[in-house]
Amino acid sequence: MPADEFALIEHYFRRDSGVAAEASVALGIGDDCALLEVPAGKQLAVSLDTLVAGRHFPVDACAEEIAQRALRVSVSDLAAMGAEPLWVTLGLTLPEADQDWLEGFSRGLFAAAAELGVALVGGDTTRGPLTMSLQVHGAVNPQQALRRDGASPGDGVYVTGSLGDGAAALALILDQAQAGDEARQYLLERYYRPRPNLQEGLLLAGLASAAIDISDGLVADLGHICQASGVAAQVQVHDLPRSAAMLQVADEGQQLSWPLSGGDDYRLCFTLAPGKEERLQQLIEQQQLMAYRIGDIVSGAGVHCFDQGRRLDITATGYNHFSND
Ligand code: ADP
Ligand code: MG
Repeated sequence: MPADEFALIEHYFRRDSGVAAEASVALGIGDDCALLEVPAGKQLAVSLDTLVAGRHFPVDACAEEIAQRALRVSVSDLAAMGAEPLWVTLGLTLPEADQDWLEGFSRGLFAAAAELGVALVGGDTTRGPLTMSLQVHGAVNPQQALRRDGASPGDGVYVTGSLGDGAAALALILDQAQAGDEARQYLLERYYRPRPNLQEGLLLAGLASAAIDISDGLVADLGHICQASGVAAQVQVHDLPRSAAMLQVADEGQQLSWPLSGGDDYRLCFTLAPGKEERLQQLIEQQQLMAYRIGDIVSGAGVHCFDQGRRLDITATGYNHFSND
């Protein structure tokens, strides 16, 4: 058992993750600051996510899976910006220095870091209720970053994969639904190890007019694009991609409400000008990415959903932390 905070950091977190981004770390863990080389001509993309036990993940979830999920969810913001991942810093608050927990957590963290290509370059360790903050840093070409404010009327609205899996997985974890073995395995993998759509983001940078990663539900997150861009979106609910596993777990209402307003999917939602459609089709045919057209950007405000010509009333607009319900 490490004797103190410094020994703990040394033992569990000062490790070479073996990723290419290590080359840009002039000074890593152990000094007052890390010293990092930003690639020439790039802009630095920075994002911070905080996860609280009992709020963002089940309190008794396995430490390795918590770390895997935390890093993947954080890196998803870099994907949504069209950035290439480089570094991560970790703010870790622990109720106690539990060796098994730290062993599992650091194993999950370094496994995910190796897969996603980020180097852990620093952090802070404190005692308190289990919470983690991860700040991810990436590099993006100036003028090509996938911002939320670039959508225009006439653009198509797309998503990169099935929606509603995160909500279905959470229902399983909370014992509120049942599934067969195969569906359960697929959904739990989607929840604990979501794949940040990094490749998709890099391909869409300079191509899509706006993008966001879907963490709080399609209606809420597409709503952020609409608000930032000063436009409205029309979504055709029959075009929403849905997995067989989600459909198996969901009841009739959930088959629609989960894809529209369930969270934790981490697909990208993006908009595309009509002149760029051909290029997107090429990328799809070359199997470089998947994209499903689910609607259109129009003038106005808000996200409006249609079911075979009929307008749907969406009451739940996703997950909003400071709302009263
Ligand atoms: P300071 O007191 O100067 O803030 P700390 O004692 O908090 O420094 O941290 C010592 C070194 O260990 C720093 O380089 C810091 O970035 C790193 N560090 C602390 N906690 C973590 C952690 N959980 N993960 C990675 N690096 C960490
Ligand atoms: Mg400190």
